[in-house]
Amino acid sequence: MPSFCLHAHFYQPPRGNPFADRFGADDIGHEPGAEPYENWNEKVTAECYLPNAESGNFELMSFDVGQTLLRWMRGHAPNTYHRILESHQKYVEKYGVSNALATPSHHTVLPLARKRDKVAQVKWGMAGFQNAYGRMPAGMWIPEMAVDLETLQIMHDLGIQYTILSEGQVEGASDGAGPYWVKLPNGGQIAVYVRDDMLSSQLAFSIQTLGGAGKWARYTLAARRKDTGRLDARAVHRLTLVAVEGETFGHHHPGEEHFLHWLLSYEAASVGQLVTTLERNLRENPPLSEIEIKEYTSWSCPHGLGRFAAGCDCTSGPSNWKGALRRAFDNLANNIDDLYVTELEEFGLDPWQLRNDYVRVTLGQMDVSHLLSDHEVIADEETTGRFAALLAASYFRQRMYTSTAFKFEDLSRSEPRYAIANGLRAALLVQEATGADLLPAFRRDLAQAVSNRTQQTGAELLDEIRAQAPDAN
Ligand SMILES: [Zn+2]
Repeated sequence: MPSFCLHAHFYQPPRGNPFADRFGADDIGHEPGAEPYENWNEKVTAECYLPNAESGNFELMSFDVGQTLLRWMRGHAPNTYHRILESHQKYVEKYGVSNALATPSHHTVLPLARKRDKVAQVKWGMAGFQNAYGRMPAGMWIPEMAVDLETLQIMHDLGIQYTILSEGQVEGASDGAGPYWVKLPNGGQIAVYVRDDMLSSQLAFSIQTLGGAGKWARYTLAARRKDTGRLDARAVHRLTLVAVEGETFGHHHPGEEHFLHWLLSYEAASVGQLVTTLERNLRENPPLSEIEIKEYTSWSCPHGLGRFAAGCDCTSGPSNWKGALRRAFDNLANNIDDLYVTELEEFGLDPWQLRNDYVRVTLGQMDVSHLLSDHEVIADEETTGRFAALLAASYFRQRMYTSTAFKFEDLSRSEPRYAIANGLRAALLVQEATGADLLPAFRRDLAQAVSNRTQQTGAELLDEIRAQAPDAN
């Protein structure tokens, strides 16, 4: 029987004031444009997350909820949060596998990150998944589907079995969604599911013109299977995968949570499709063939990740501020890392192992003194405080790289400002711990990034943010 899987990626970036609390600016506050709701997270919850949860869609689809959104929901939309987790639990009880994928911790465009930061993002993301869903993840959604072999290798080495890419990012995918093996440079292989780009775009952009789920299933989904040529034994069981933003269903397109519900609960099956999810499919259909990936590609920029690096035509107007902003973040991150490593050296600690384990503190599972004693460090109160500040700096420094900081058209928008604020917080924490002032260099680098809209430089934005930040950190 042919199979069908719909994967929905639910995400909202972290926002608010990084000085307001220790690990998540979970209080977003008021955002203009979201009225009558207080902010966009609340608006999208009312339009999309809650109605999808109430209609049982989280028991029918494959999904991931970005870590920052999941944490926000836990604190601010607990009803929605618990319904999603209950749906997941029901799915696990019914099929013995999960229908949820993990996500890296801060929605970083991983191919642009250093190896040790990729490791931290994947490990923190897996720990966050386990904390919420009560099990280790088998699959991981890669932010922006931005891929390189090193990222896949790290995911594989840490126990991730599969991920999703789009058709345009791979070569050799002749069997629908697969799964396929991707061979990894240092040994091993990871399963990759390949989404149907045409069907995914139809749902993402035109769902309201498709005439409903029944019509789409009969005239498009069922016909799509026959178009694809080969009709050997494998083709009979072929999987079709649609992967889109979860906000498609109710927020981008009001009311379309019903399309999703009818498609997965009735219409796909009525045209002979087995509705499944990826871990369930993988258990029954291990990959038989191999594909090659196109490194440094993503689903949101056809210019080799230019949208998140040096700039490209994906956003209007000059976009060279992106390269300058990234350079400022990279230099600050390197300076923070150097000081961190120096401080830890005398204790004979592996600094990156400790930083990876720090996720237990950010998840509220333990405090820093407990973490240090787990790493067999006997530290007095003053030293523990210094480590706590350095580790917190390493967390805020990771959050500078959230993909949205680079995704849009102007430096003066709230997303880049928020990223700079996280850099400022990280620099002040390092100063508290070591006395070293990293801000003059950060400010000098930020001066190279200029807003097209306001002509402000990143340095001026930094000054503005600093003037508003509380003294305490
Ligand atoms: Zn682009």
